[in-house]
Amino acid sequence: MREPVPEKTFIGIPASDGIAIGPAFCYIPAELTIPVCAAGTVDEEMTRFDMACKRARVELQSLYEAIEKRAGKEEASIFEAHQEMLSDPALEGKVRAEVEIGETVEQALVKATKELASLLAGMDNELFAARALDVKDVGHRILRILLGLPDTALSAVTETSIIIAEDLTPSDTASLDPKLTLGFITAQGGLTSHSAILARTLGLPAIVGMGAGLLEKVPSGTSIILDGRTGEMIFAPGGETIARYKQIKAKRESHLLSLKAAVEKDAHTANGRRVEVTANVGEAASARDAMEHGAEGIGLLRTEFLYLEDTQPPSEEKQYHIYREIFAVMSGRPVIVRTLDIGGDKPPSYFPFPNEMNPFLGWRAIRISLDEPELFKTQLRAILRAAVGHHARIMFPMVSDLDELRRAREIVEVVKRGLEVASVEFAGDVPVGIMVETPAAAVLVDVLAEASDFFSLGTNDLTQYTMAVDRGNAKVSGLFQPLHPAVLRLIRQTIDAGHAKGKWVGMCGELAGMTKAIPILLGFGLDEFSMNPRAIPEAKYLIGKLTDEKARDIAGQAMSFGTAAEIETYMKGVLALL
Ligand code: PEP
Ligand code: MG
Repeated sequence: MREPVPEKTFIGIPASDGIAIGPAFCYIPAELTIPVCAAGTVDEEMTRFDMACKRARVELQSLYEAIEKRAGKEEASIFEAHQEMLSDPALEGKVRAEVEIGETVEQALVKATKELASLLAGMDNELFAARALDVKDVGHRILRILLGLPDTALSAVTETSIIIAEDLTPSDTASLDPKLTLGFITAQGGLTSHSAILARTLGLPAIVGMGAGLLEKVPSGTSIILDGRTGEMIFAPGGETIARYKQIKAKRESHLLSLKAAVEKDAHTANGRRVEVTANVGEAASARDAMEHGAEGIGLLRTEFLYLEDTQPPSEEKQYHIYREIFAVMSGRPVIVRTLDIGGDKPPSYFPFPNEMNPFLGWRAIRISLDEPELFKTQLRAILRAAVGHHARIMFPMVSDLDELRRAREIVEVVKRGLEVASVEFAGDVPVGIMVETPAAAVLVDVLAEASDFFSLGTNDLTQYTMAVDRGNAKVSGLFQPLHPAVLRLIRQTIDAGHAKGKWVGMCGELAGMTKAIPILLGFGLDEFSMNPRAIPEAKYLIGKLTDEKARDIAGQAMSFGTAAEIETYMKGVLALL
């Protein structure tokens, strides 16, 4: 008799929430072998390359459309990027160079993609490194077409399974059949790899970064449990373990149903206090996504992308149309438009930026607007014009001083007078407020209240400046602690001082969407939580479970600790009981 295989747990990176129980399917993409044959003329080889690229474009377009239907434009955009790679002159140039020295187009393509991918992978930039996989994916697609093979990725899966793979390209992930795929586990990949992002969007449980040798550990057909919340893969689970996970799974499914109910209603605490839950967005498509996730407005409309995507600043007309489209999507719900927040880690190409030792402490946000009044006025005109008939507000980033705020407001008044003189229709009653994201602003809220109609806490920068920790520096990322008592004190002080002056205080930093922070912020009396659209359902659900009294109690307890780690541990316990 064969010994039963012992249950064993392996840990990877939890990439997408959810639990899957089922048989493993090991996905080993077929190696494409290039037959040895003589190359044709340069023209013949390059014509084959062009034809294959054309075919690849058609395939990618249908993948784009399929994912757009299932997950939305943003997620599908990866296949738009792949289509752009097909016309990348760097790829074509490298292929041509190889063909010109006598290689077949297949050999040339393999070399060219390898070279481009390793160039990208070697760059000290996570985004570029992630693009290396995309280049390989595109190269593999063209090669497959050149070899006359069909797009069979993962088509061998015929029964519901958990996919086990070395790595999954975006094309692989997109071609997973949602009816047959319970989830996936990969040996490679990180939290921000495209397959992980797609998994989250498609709602597929996933673990990535399980480490080398995964495929040898888990043969196809083995029973496994995938826990996408913890990153645990349980190999050959026993009956008791399966029963326990089935229970967790059922509980989670009923929780998801409650979330669905929460999405449809405006958020209230359990004792009926109205709390706004809004979204941070940068464009009309994400505003639509936000609406689908239950956003009650936009707490932060990031306009900086408009300034970063082109070689010149956006015109008033361009901005006007974009803002109007977003206001229309939100159909009467409040939209806070943040004026340009460029500089720091977001320098546009068309400004001669000084060489700064500390860009985050340098020429950025409101400082640029005040130094470049024409640029600022163009944006203000577009916002005020677009706001007619809508519920818009204007918000200045990175204010640290009353004089700065007064000067910015004066420019708003100048713009209004100009529009009046020119008889251009505009909204005259748009409230104007500021982000509280510098410690100076946080301690000066009572003073700034003189010229600010509302406040919104920007905890990303507030944490960076309070803790003196560069928010983008991986070396010190452990010190970036938005739940640090120092940051929490500034947040509480801001809310108290704002309320004492009769002002509305919201939050649009990442902290607002973190479940571990929401009870504390609610206890502080925060009026609005603005976050990434996907975090909205859970936030609304959590708010609905807490009374103000309970939240105040939690906040009081949290503030009694001296370190962020203690607060985090305490909040873990709180959330487990909710
Ligand atoms: C913040 O600083 O918290 C914020 C929301 O702005 P950004 O992340 O764009 O700096
Ligand atoms: Mg900021």
